[in-house]
Amino acid sequence: MHPTLADDLHRLPELLQSARDFAAREVSGLDERPVAHLGKVPGPEPLPVGGTGAEGALARFAERWSPGFSGSAGPRYLGFVTGGATPASLTGDWLTSAYDQNVSGSGGSSASALERETLSWLRELFGLSEAHSGAFVSGATVSNTVGLAIAREWLGERQGVSVSNEGVGALGPVDVLSGSPHSSVAKALSVLGIGRDRLRPVPVLSGNREAVDVERLAAALDALDGRPAVVVANAGTVNTVDFDDLRAIAALKERYDFWLHVDAAFGGFAALSPSYAHLVEGLDAADSVCVDLHKWLNVPYDAAVQFTRRQDLQVRVFHNASPYLGLPTGDPDFLHLTPENSRRLRALPAWFSLTAYGRDGHREIVERNVALARRLGERIAEVPQLRLLAPVRLNVVCFTLADDPGEERVRALAREIAASGEAYVTPTFYGGTHALRAAFSNWRTSEADTDLVYEAVTRHCA
Ligand SMILES: *Cc1c(COP(=O)(O)O)cnc(C)c1O
Repeated sequence: MHPTLADDLHRLPELLQSARDFAAREVSGLDERPVAHLGKVPGPEPLPVGGTGAEGALARFAERWSPGFSGSAGPRYLGFVTGGATPASLTGDWLTSAYDQNVSGSGGSSASALERETLSWLRELFGLSEAHSGAFVSGATVSNTVGLAIAREWLGERQGVSVSNEGVGALGPVDVLSGSPHSSVAKALSVLGIGRDRLRPVPVLSGNREAVDVERLAAALDALDGRPAVVVANAGTVNTVDFDDLRAIAALKERYDFWLHVDAAFGGFAALSPSYAHLVEGLDAADSVCVDLHKWLNVPYDAAVQFTRRQDLQVRVFHNASPYLGLPTGDPDFLHLTPENSRRLRALPAWFSLTAYGRDGHREIVERNVALARRLGERIAEVPQLRLLAPVRLNVVCFTLADDPGEERVRALAREIAASGEAYVTPTFYGGTHALRAAFSNWRTSEADTDLVYEAVTRHCA
């Protein structure tokens, strides 16, 4: 063994202690740490030859890189939809690395069974029935891709062809209908060989809504003359957190032949609160469902789940067995269900957080975030220089400058807010207007944080 490596092996408990101390300092400094870093990154260094040992690496990291890391795990980073990491999930994540399990299959470890237990808890949390099976993937983009890959196989089944064997060319043109799809849906269609152009927008409801107009969706399905299609329903749009009427869309299945995929990346968490659960009523009727966990469950990156009612089709797409072994039967190993073969035990951070805080603890995070978004929205509505672009439906405040919200001015405002180090919001485009979004999904965010965000925004918008 290389002597430095041998030395590290010898000192492993002390190394972990140093890492623990360092992480504890960093995490407890999150409230004060600048929310974002817009400064320079360190210049390149040559590939180390001799090596410093792990303590030396930690020192080099602390000196060169950690000062430029953002406070995105902290309470005032409201860009995109960014969750933090609950204390229990962080613990679970460390142990995931310490155990270094490969959850491709269940050979020789109970880790796969832990993933299954976590999936069954999540299924219950989101109000899905046992008809849905699940698997962990790295994020909602991959979850959407897996759901749409199963949809593609289903289209083949309707036409009597096997897309997974014959290729997507065996299908005719595919129609994917959606009101306000997330950009990752187009990416998924590109990856799957269906094509970005096959995503056909369906008009949304009038009156500042992003939810699909179900009548217009019915008309679009009707125009297909019986050709099976894919409908992507959206449960929580990124700009205004609007929800398609899932029950009404599912009811269309009685008249039309389509696969229903629901992108509930963060909106699925409405199910945790009796006040908002109605927004995702009907979710269980979906053929496939995407939910992100590194957003509103507040587990570290990267984790999401995908659920489906047609695990048999999923296995046809993703199985990784020698042809002579045939398709896996019974409870297939995860390597037959997801794009990955070797897989990290992503379930462990979620298992820890659900065990530590339960449904009630996670419900409190969701309800507090929504209340804080409303608070910020109410305060912004009273600022003459600002204008709310939509009612705060759940956890996102979408607003812009009252006068002349040109792209440059709005982006400059986002940059100034970020440069203050006090808050982070992201630019967007909504309803023909350049705007900003403040998305609340971090477990740490308090009323005091929300007021600091308000001050940072108003200080720069004058
Ligand atoms: C964030 C998000 C995605 C993509 O999620 P990643 O985890 O970044 O891949 C997809 N759909 C919706 C609605 C989202 O909010």
